[in-house]
Amino acid sequence: MAKQFERIDTKLVHSGEHPRYEGAVTTPIFQSAMFETYGGEGYHDIKYIRLNNTPNHAVLHAKLAAIENAESALVTSSGMAAITSTLLTLLAAGDHLLIQSTLYGGTDSFVTDDIPRLGIEFDFIDPADPGSWHSKLRPNTKVIYVETISNPLIEVGDLRAVVAFAKEHGLVSMIDNTFASPVNFRPIDNGFDLSLHSCTKYLNGHSDIVAGAVIGSNDMIEKIKHKLDHLGATLDPHACFLLQRGLKTLALRVKCQNGNALGLAKFLDSHAAIGKVNYPALESSPYYERARDLFDGCGGMLSFDIAGDLKTVDRFMRKVRIPIIAPSLGGTETLLTRPAVTSHAGMSPEDRSKKGIHDTLIRMSVGIESIDDLIEDLDQALGG
Ligand code: PLP
Repeated sequence: MAKQFERIDTKLVHSGEHPRYEGAVTTPIFQSAMFETYGGEGYHDIKYIRLNNTPNHAVLHAKLAAIENAESALVTSSGMAAITSTLLTLLAAGDHLLIQSTLYGGTDSFVTDDIPRLGIEFDFIDPADPGSWHSKLRPNTKVIYVETISNPLIEVGDLRAVVAFAKEHGLVSMIDNTFASPVNFRPIDNGFDLSLHSCTKYLNGHSDIVAGAVIGSNDMIEKIKHKLDHLGATLDPHACFLLQRGLKTLALRVKCQNGNALGLAKFLDSHAAIGKVNYPALESSPYYERARDLFDGCGGMLSFDIAGDLKTVDRFMRKVRIPIIAPSLGGTETLLTRPAVTSHAGMSPEDRSKKGIHDTLIRMSVGIESIDDLIEDLDQALGG
């Protein structure tokens, strides 16, 4: 019988790790494509890496389910594999999807370019405006999809209203919980049916693998596993091992990142060279009350506008010594990107400006470095 643990910090270290193989304190890498079988199992139960059921997968599935208080979990070869295989399990030709309008770019492209070709319809919704959702609902609507915290403006939708709307209209509610991480928000406890992650980010936390996960009920995860078995987007055992190792320090890292991000947000908010700062734990944020209600912390992602023009932004980006100028997020190191030329480069300048994604907007994934070092560095890069 698997041991049960109460708090997330303990679950991250111990859940799923029993029995210990040969007493090994850390689960070894089972680098074997297939395992002995004498027949009798169904196709989806034969132990084979692509079928996501080797010992390295099993440990991760149990740990991920435990940390979000769910029945079941499934790891995938990337966050996009988790998102696409889940949507392809839940939706078929003739179905309709309601999905948040400010999405991670990969999800946005999949929804706008790929699913219409499969005969699946969709409408974008504003996650902060529940009153506008009803007019988009159709008899064939099956799924409502949101992100916990949006990129790059760090907005928090009305997540309680999403759950209530889904229950009222018999929809499956899905949430991409990547930005918050389970340390700050647990979707299943809050009534969502499915929680998804790009484990590439906080869950692994060391910027060295690409991985994903979907977490939910036994029934739904079983169906998504069968789809994933066919699509073949499995996580290899070595990446499973690294993800398991990364997860052990998730609570430590995220609590530090919550504190560092709040410290930096306050510093930037009071700096003369900075325009608007987007971070929901700032009392001036329009999402402050909602974030306090929903989250245990606001995470390590923030964004801000530099007062000035592109030359000022360029000077700042060249002068920082600690942050690395790179896309992605959620690792131990602080990263900076300019969404207008990276994650949102595909959007027209008019659409970007309508949404408030100015050319001078900088997104920061705050790491676990010393907050004093980070503040000193940003201060010198902003001209002291
Ligand atoms: N969801 C969010 C919020 C992301 O930021 C990303 C990647 O940046 C993804 C999903 C996709 O994850 P992956 O790159 O692991 O496929």
